[in-house]
Amino acid sequence: MRGVTAVPSYVVMQPTTLCNLDCVYCYLPHRAVDRRMPVPVAAAVAAAVRPWAASGRFSVVWHGGEPLAAGREHLAALLAPFEGTVEHHVQTNATLIDDAWCEFFAAHRMRVSVSVDGPRWRNTDRVTRSGQPAYDRIRRGVAALRRHGLPFSALAVVSRPEPGLAGELYDYFLDLGCDVLGINIEEAEGVNTRSNAHPADAVTGFWAELVAAWRRAPRIHLREIEWSLRYAAAVLDGTSDEVLPRQLDPIPTIGHDGSVTLLSPELAGFTHPRYGDFSSGNVLARPLGEILADAAVTPWVREFLTGVEACRSGCPYFGFCGGGHAANRYFEHGRFDGTETEHCRNSKIRLLEGVLEHAREHQPGAAR
Ligand code: SF4
Repeated sequence: MRGVTAVPSYVVMQPTTLCNLDCVYCYLPHRAVDRRMPVPVAAAVAAAVRPWAASGRFSVVWHGGEPLAAGREHLAALLAPFEGTVEHHVQTNATLIDDAWCEFFAAHRMRVSVSVDGPRWRNTDRVTRSGQPAYDRIRRGVAALRRHGLPFSALAVVSRPEPGLAGELYDYFLDLGCDVLGINIEEAEGVNTRSNAHPADAVTGFWAELVAAWRRAPRIHLREIEWSLRYAAAVLDGTSDEVLPRQLDPIPTIGHDGSVTLLSPELAGFTHPRYGDFSSGNVLARPLGEILADAAVTPWVREFLTGVEACRSGCPYFGFCGGGHAANRYFEHGRFDGTETEHCRNSKIRLLEGVLEHAREHQPGAAR
């Protein structure tokens, strides 16, 4: 894997900067203000993705802020230019989901992913603007999805890995009814400056426990565990070189104003004296395809690619990880050409170690 491809497999769209919640660990800098994406921005992106979508599956991920805070009418206007060409996904805190939103999702064949951190007592960081717990509203939104028979994914943030948590979370999400689960160990990025350094054995133990829970009842696609098992299988088959794509996906994030931030949505909305506003261009001024073709012209992207090469030559986990995580490098190291971060320790290195720990403990003859 070398460099950045000019053809992404998905784009991330920010229909509004606003979020109706104010989660303690949120990275978004402008979540208290409602800056909405005008329709011409969506039309410009739709024109660019049409040829890419024609040659295979292509996703548009509506992210925020809270995308539903843009309102149904405005979101429908932003979706219209994409009509019939792409798969739509939305990442939502679920608090605004009601019957009308469920009908909207069904009509636009929009795939929903809900952010919820587990049972009520694990959601104390998910609060409204007045500091009230958001949990009951999240559950009401999930109940509406279930009532309408809409499949959904879930995304949980784990702030403090500790014994017993993985099993508890897995049982909770089995009961919640999601069909895919992603786990993010909290990241120190954006305006969230809480430390994400944890004892190695706590994080490795968390992932090992999660594999064990999943193996007892493998009814949910568990994103991180499936990545790890796919890599382990490829190593055994001698095909590990084929696990990573040949080039990094640029993951263009289209800000509400049409600005394009590559590789890490978390960089959107920030500025730095040396790197500027991290934007590589604006779809209202230049076609997205041209902006992506010149990705490596953006100075911070060039610096990041130097960091990826440093990972390749120095990190034994590179074949699994691919050395992504531009925003984590920046927010943890203050620059892009460093290598190991707390994030990659938590979510790549210890993930793989946890899966291997589970495998070692459960091989025939291992003491339990
Ligand atoms: S695990 Fe960390 S150091 Fe290793 S390749 Fe990934 S980002 Fe680089």
